Amino acid sequence: MTRTTHRTPNVANLRPRSKLVHGGTRRSGFDETSEALFLTSGYVYGSAEEAEQAFLNDGQRHVYSRFRNPTSAMFEDRLAAYEGAEWAYATTTGMAAVFAALMCHLKAGDRIVAPWGLFGSCLHIVKNLCPRYGVEPVLVDGADLSQWEEALSKPTAAVFLETPSNPCLEIVDLKAVCDLAHKAGAKVVVDNAFATPVLQRPLEIGADVVVYSATKHIDGQGRCLGGIILTDAKFGSEVVHPFLRHTGPTISPFNAWVLLKGLETLELRVGAQGAAAATVAEYLEGHPKVARALYPTLASHPQHDLARRQMTGGGTMVSFHVKGGKDGGGKDEAFRLMNALEMVLISNNLGDSKSLITHPWTTTHGRIPEDEKRRAGITPSLIRLSVGLEDPQDIIDDLERALLSV
Ligand SMILES: *Cc1c(COP(=O)(O)O)cnc(C)c1O
Repeated sequence: MTRTTHRTPNVANLRPRSKLVHGGTRRSGFDETSEALFLTSGYVYGSAEEAEQAFLNDGQRHVYSRFRNPTSAMFEDRLAAYEGAEWAYATTTGMAAVFAALMCHLKAGDRIVAPWGLFGSCLHIVKNLCPRYGVEPVLVDGADLSQWEEALSKPTAAVFLETPSNPCLEIVDLKAVCDLAHKAGAKVVVDNAFATPVLQRPLEIGADVVVYSATKHIDGQGRCLGGIILTDAKFGSEVVHPFLRHTGPTISPFNAWVLLKGLETLELRVGAQGAAAATVAEYLEGHPKVARALYPTLASHPQHDLARRQMTGGGTMVSFHVKGGKDGGGKDEAFRLMNALEMVLISNNLGDSKSLITHPWTTTHGRIPEDEKRRAGITPSLIRLSVGLEDPQDIIDDLERALLSV
């Protein structure tokens, strides 16, 4: 029988979930079903002239894996297809993506506006690193639109935000902040790690750049680190790519391959974990030892209407305050609860198939000054729970048992 070329679907016509399975696929000459892992740093040429041409026609073919690698490109193109982005580039970690997405365009004399409610390392970049390069940080209460309005009443180069925020699940009004930011001349960079592209599409709402810690839900099985930057073709190729190419935070093809396969199950995992998280949040809210449960779509969340408008679900993360001790602290109570859990694991990671519990005050946000932690809503009684893929009733049973020790 004569050999036929394999069929490839037109990914643009597929529904979102199918894009996560077929997007970006580039088959090698061996007709493999599962995507190939190209562990190669370089590429060869048939002649010196061909090498010259490759460098002249930048981007037409692979020349060096710091610039582009076929496996990494499959991961980038697959997520770009799902996110509705024209351009994507994968990085070593989520923090490399955050840093590059800001530093590729900021320069001395610029202003950056961001909310206090940020992941510890993100706050460090905005508050401590930006000033070292002459960029003035302006921090606001992310839930208070009047503070955004005032901060963005002056020309601004960048807005950086997380929504929902880590760990207090504060919601920023993406549409309103993007409108204010664009009037001030700012590029809006959204860290969408908590919502994931399954539940929230910042580019469709008006953001200019989306970044992910792919370490979290995109891998979702705790195996490797990674990050990704998604934006429009012009900003991506003219501003972001030259910065990345010359500073080198390129993802390893192996990690890109793991993350590429993680994308295939992303919608299913985030859907199941999110449904379980909503159930767990309601359980926690009704428990007498819990002072307050934080979850974007709970009726008690101050921004639940906004959360329902800009997200299609509350996400996989639940935070809660245990009822504190006599001093209003709550660290001892939080530690007793965590230490009494049997199935839910103590870890500072999140978005995993295994349920993970964290005490932000002493770990992820441990190095941040106390007054700044409190400003972001982090107190010693706060616990962050990343809901995994276990049976939700087992998660509740474990919490029920552990809450007896609070
Ligand atoms: C974990 C996390 C990061 C950092 O990602 P890494 O892959 O660990 O570098 C950035 N932003 C948020 C919201 C995160 O949760």
